[in-house]
Amino acid sequence: MEKILIVDDSIVQAAQLKAILEGEYDVTVASTPEDGLSQASGDSYSLILLDVVMPGMDGFTLLKKLQEEIITQNVPVILITSLSDAEYEQRGLVLGAVDYITKPFNPLIVKARVNTHVKLYNYRRQVEQQSMTDQLTGIANRRRYEHYSAAKWHEAARLQVPFSVCMFDIDNFKVYNDTFGHPAGDKVIAAVAGVIASRMHRSTDFVARYGGEEFVALSLGEPAEKIFGHLKKVRRAVEELHIPHAPSVSEWVTVSVGGVTTVPRPESTYPFTLKIADTMLYHAKKLGRNQVVWADEQMNQLREA
Ligand code: GH3
Ligand code: MG
Ligand code: MG
Repeated sequence: MEKILIVDDSIVQAAQLKAILEGEYDVTVASTPEDGLSQASGDSYSLILLDVVMPGMDGFTLLKKLQEEIITQNVPVILITSLSDAEYEQRGLVLGAVDYITKPFNPLIVKARVNTHVKLYNYRRQVEQQSMTDQLTGIANRRRYEHYSAAKWHEAARLQVPFSVCMFDIDNFKVYNDTFGHPAGDKVIAAVAGVIASRMHRSTDFVARYGGEEFVALSLGEPAEKIFGHLKKVRRAVEELHIPHAPSVSEWVTVSVGGVTTVPRPESTYPFTLKIADTMLYHAKKLGRNQVVWADEQMNQLREA
């Protein structure tokens, strides 16, 4: 059931609203703006009903704060006002509330407005989700990667923890397509993406399709030795899919992997780090493909034996 938060200092009013919405939604009530803010950022609500006239921090200040926080900034807010509060309505709508409902409540109108905004919110989230997902593989697309990598780099820099970037590239894939056809090639791309994503699944990991037959993974917090060891297993898992390659090339479809682990320094940048991963991938190709080459924190190269 979808969650709705009511922020209202009037217990009676909040109870009325709750009674109207309860059958269809999981309703939580906060009786102070401070409680409302902590509830809103601590859970995922599909809608917030906000009484703007409250003692202490007023509803407008809360509205602004909700819009400043990443977790809450897209959640629709409906204002609760009295018929005489035209000025409040106007101010709230200018500040970004999506709608308002007036007291005394008409249950049918309350339900209709709430349903409409919850639907719109879900629709928007779905569109956003699709625009960030690669159609063929179902993993994050390049666009999502661009957003995510910038944010993660800053996070690692702030926390001063190891940050790893890893590039994967399917070996001799042009020959594969030429031999088996493009649709078969597409299936291979999806299968390889599935293996990589299923093995880089921690909350600190991120995998995206970088382009064509290339993937990129980011990982936070682990030292080079450890992540290098892990990537060797991922590389092997791709090989162990046992997808036959063109006989002139190799027995199975394989990937080459290049990566780097670094604790971000003020003088370093994400593009520079990505370039190092790309150079390691180039080395892996030069050394014969189907292998991992990694640059550790001291920029020493780690290679498979
Ligand atoms: P290398 O081992 O050096 O990576 O050789 P390669 O043939 O994989 O490298 P190259 O970059 O020359 O070719 C990549 C090929 O990947 C070219 C293209 O036919 C294929 N490719 C790129 N995107 C797609 C896609 O979405 N679907 C399919 N089926 N093939 C793709
Ligand atoms: Mg390539
Ligand atoms: Mg390739």
